[in-house]
Amino acid sequence: MDGEETWDMKEAAAQAAEYEAVNSIVWLECPFCGSEELSQQSMGGIFWINCDKCSTSGPPKFDVIEAIGAWNKRHSNDPDEA
Ligand SMILES: [Zn+2]
Repeated sequence: MDGEETWDMKEAAAQAAEYEAVNSIVWLECPFCGSEELSQQSMGGIFWINCDKCSTSGPPKFDVIEAIGAWNKRHSNDPDEA
């Protein structure tokens, strides 16, 4: 039980850092329905933000932080520009 602890702690620290970064970012409400029920989705190393209410999804990015940024950008800019 002590051989793999280093790896676990490294992994946990990385996850905690990412978790903290994600939570420090403001998630803007859905530009279409105004819902704040958003969730982070990921598949095969690609991340995007999804509105749980109207199923609008943000632009897919390779990084969750970028995905949230893209979602927020979509909110403030004309959707056609994204
Ligand atoms: Zn929505």
